[in-house]
Amino acid sequence: MRAIDATRLYFDRAADHMDMSESMRELLLTAKREVSVQIAVELDSGDFATYIGYRVQHDDARGPMKGGLRFHPEVDLGEVRSLAALMTWKTALVDLPFGGAKGGIAIDPSKFSPRELERITRRFIDGIHELIGPDVDIPAPDMGSNSDVMAWIMNQYQKYHGFNPGVVTGKPVELYGIPGREEATGRGVGILAYKMTSRLGRKPQQTRIALQGFGNVGSHAAKFLHESEFKVVAISDVSGGYYRPEGLNIPQALQHAREHKSLKGYKEAERISNEELLELDVELLIPAALGGVITAANAPKVKAPLIIEAANQPVWPDADAVFDERGTIVLPDILANAGGVTVSYFEWVQNRQHYSWGINRVRQELDSVMSTAFERVWSLSQERKVSLRTAAYMLGIGRVSRATVLGGIT
Ligand code: NAD
Repeated sequence: MRAIDATRLYFDRAADHMDMSESMRELLLTAKREVSVQIAVELDSGDFATYIGYRVQHDDARGPMKGGLRFHPEVDLGEVRSLAALMTWKTALVDLPFGGAKGGIAIDPSKFSPRELERITRRFIDGIHELIGPDVDIPAPDMGSNSDVMAWIMNQYQKYHGFNPGVVTGKPVELYGIPGREEATGRGVGILAYKMTSRLGRKPQQTRIALQGFGNVGSHAAKFLHESEFKVVAISDVSGGYYRPEGLNIPQALQHAREHKSLKGYKEAERISNEELLELDVELLIPAALGGVITAANAPKVKAPLIIEAANQPVWPDADAVFDERGTIVLPDILANAGGVTVSYFEWVQNRQHYSWGINRVRQELDSVMSTAFERVWSLSQERKVSLRTAAYMLGIGRVSRATVLGGIT
């Protein structure tokens, strides 16, 4: 199954509960615009290379479209399309005045020098600058891109359209960014882990957690969970897994990852594989790396009774069916990782206001947005006796469909 089919399946499941017509389904699922542009750049060697950059603008019924820019060798139009639709449901679910979009370039950023990456980013913006803008489509970081990339986007856009920092979010704090954006997705995961476990009557100290991925999302989630006294017993990155049943020393692991740019060589834990990490006997599993890591093949071996999808689409629909059957609770990606886009929204508001928010205000408002969305999803799921994923999709899709009708379809 492709990523886009997974998104469609979850959409249809929710739409069935809402008695949505076929014509409305088609309208909501069809992207407003999809572009692919040539990116021809000179490499440091003096040679040149050509890449393809994608931007899918899925829906703008509720506001300017919003979504990250992914630099990863496996990026293709199908994946970007699926992630763009997820952004539409996600922004609607947490009630931000945005639609959904996504972009990507199929490159491995670790294979390029910073100057080459800058040239690639600027050429991409040359190709799409007329299609983005603070009131149209606002890119942000995703896997493989970061605040430096966002600064180049702002600067390149400015060359065509003049000063307008609200064209992109996730910028460096020194360049119109907002404090707390980098930690936002991980912090949001932490806030929800706390809410979800207390709803299930479990204290943080009694909750052992296995966390896959130690990048932006995973490392900040680990920090927040550790500070909230959860017992993080396993972490991992591309170098493999690290397990300590009594609980890991997270500040020490974070320091190791900062110094070595990876967990590789971290000695204070038993080495396990990424596959073994997913199957550990823990109370909470948080996949925070790649999509599609839990499928029907390994789902029966997953022991955690609660999964929080910090990554996008880590649980494949065939695995979701196994969990539904077995009563394993899955907090879905469109809610679980919405902290990032929420603080991106605060950054956009700040840029439009020409006013700076402090970290305390950012954290407080993030907490409020995530908590409100969680309560809505939880009560709808109880009321309609549907999974948290179906409830989250129902809320997101319902808001987009109402805005579409109110705005006038033709
Ligand atoms: P990142 O590039 O900062 O980190 C990715 C992490 O995954 C790294 O630790 C990497 O080593 C690890 N990894 C890569 N391949 C792996 C493998 N095969 N097994 C185990 N670990 C592996 O990316 P990120 O920004 O932390 O994003 C992670 C996920 O969260 C993605 O699915 C992304 O779309 C999603 N997400 C991110 C944000 C955000 O604000 N950064 C927001 C919403 C969703």
